[in-house]
Amino acid sequence: MSASIVVCGSGIVGLATALAFARKGEAVTLVGPRPTVQNLSQDEFFARVYALSPASQRFLASIGVWALIDARRLTSVQAMEIHGDGNGLLNLNAWQSAQSELAWIVESSEIERVLVQAAQVMGLRWVTEKFASYAPGALTTDRGTTLEAELFIAADGAQSPLRAAAGLTVESRPYGATALVAHFNCSVPHQGTALQWFGSEGVLALLPMPDTAQGPQVSMVWSLKEAIANEVLAMPAAQQASALQTRLAAATAGRLGALTLRSAVHGFPLTLNQSPIIGDCLALAGDAAHRLHPLAGQGLNLGLGDVQALVDTVAARESFRSPGDPMVLRRYRRLRAEPVMAMRLVTDGLARLFDIQHAPVVWLRNTGMNLAEKLPFIKRQLIAGASR
Ligand SMILES: Cc1cc2nc3c(=O)[nH]c(=O)nc-3n(C[C@H](O)[C@H](O)[C@H](O)COP(=O)(O)OP(=O)(O)OC[C@H]3O[C@@H](n4cnc5c(N)ncnc54)[C@H](O)[C@@H]3O)c2cc1C
Repeated sequence: MSASIVVCGSGIVGLATALAFARKGEAVTLVGPRPTVQNLSQDEFFARVYALSPASQRFLASIGVWALIDARRLTSVQAMEIHGDGNGLLNLNAWQSAQSELAWIVESSEIERVLVQAAQVMGLRWVTEKFASYAPGALTTDRGTTLEAELFIAADGAQSPLRAAAGLTVESRPYGATALVAHFNCSVPHQGTALQWFGSEGVLALLPMPDTAQGPQVSMVWSLKEAIANEVLAMPAAQQASALQTRLAAATAGRLGALTLRSAVHGFPLTLNQSPIIGDCLALAGDAAHRLHPLAGQGLNLGLGDVQALVDTVAARESFRSPGDPMVLRRYRRLRAEPVMAMRLVTDGLARLFDIQHAPVVWLRNTGMNLAEKLPFIKRQLIAGASR
């Protein structure tokens, strides 16, 4: 089988890449298992939710999938309230930057559902097998299908088997932290505000979610030191709920009233990964290229930024160049260097800054937050940065 472009990985980044190329009229084939479509009732919510930036929202709209998302499963983030580990407090509001929202919260399964639906409607060529081996110019699946192409795209996640088979290195540094993810009922309405606390045990985010029959709901992402997170994960369900509720009550000082666990708790060990973004006839996108600390909720947004840059660069190539031409790939690398580096520096810098428990540093970071709180110009810059 041959195509001009083969995308390996059928997660959100892979599906979006294949769809965006198909919309540009490129001969593209997607390789990867079909995501399991969840049949959730209106009051059930998938464990993984993402904060999507306005830029990601516009990109998903441009490939025709945003409008397919069930509006009842979307939450618009109007404001962010960020608490330091001293008296630091920073409030960011969409109106401060004349935006209609700061971000959207949506379940990963809902984004996958609409991408799969669009792929079906467009008749996207999709080999629902797993990648097994690679040599420049040809990829073979676990069922022995061989695909030849001019450009291969690794969108197969942080462990990226295609990246490994192509011999690209990955620098990986564990944070010694695990993100606990779960949904909670809250007794005080969140009013579309995403709340975040930087504490000595880690970074806690409570993201606004659609109300359920039990009232307002938030999704927790709590990046905790590994030992604490593992202890919680190992507990039986009832003990886990009460331990988390007690810890949350202390960490949030009752900001959203009583928080009651309404879902299973999942753990994600955190690492900072960086790989070269291009190889021989090969481009990487999403977590295959970089993995960040989730404290800013930007990993997928950065991945969708890769997709947009890659698709635009390949589509704008000179007629005598193939999609995998080294010059085209170098243009892609150049375009992504600054945004990827900037996001890595910000997220890693914040994770490290709030890990230091030295009194002058604690004072400095909280004072910094309070200073930023008083400077509208800085706030606009922060909002603009988070919206890209
Ligand atoms: C706790 C937590 C919270 C987060 N919150 C946010 C957030 O709010 N906002 C945000 O922007 N980002 C967030 N992120 C980051 C986000 O989860 C990732 O950046 C995003 O999921 C990466 O998508 P991807 O498609 O690149 O990789 P993946 O989602 O890992 O998808 C990879 C795909 O490749 C497929 N695959 C693997 N092996 C093979 C193979 N051999 N052959 C074929 N296919 C294969 C897999 O089946 C999968 O479908 C968060 C991350 C964590 C850990």
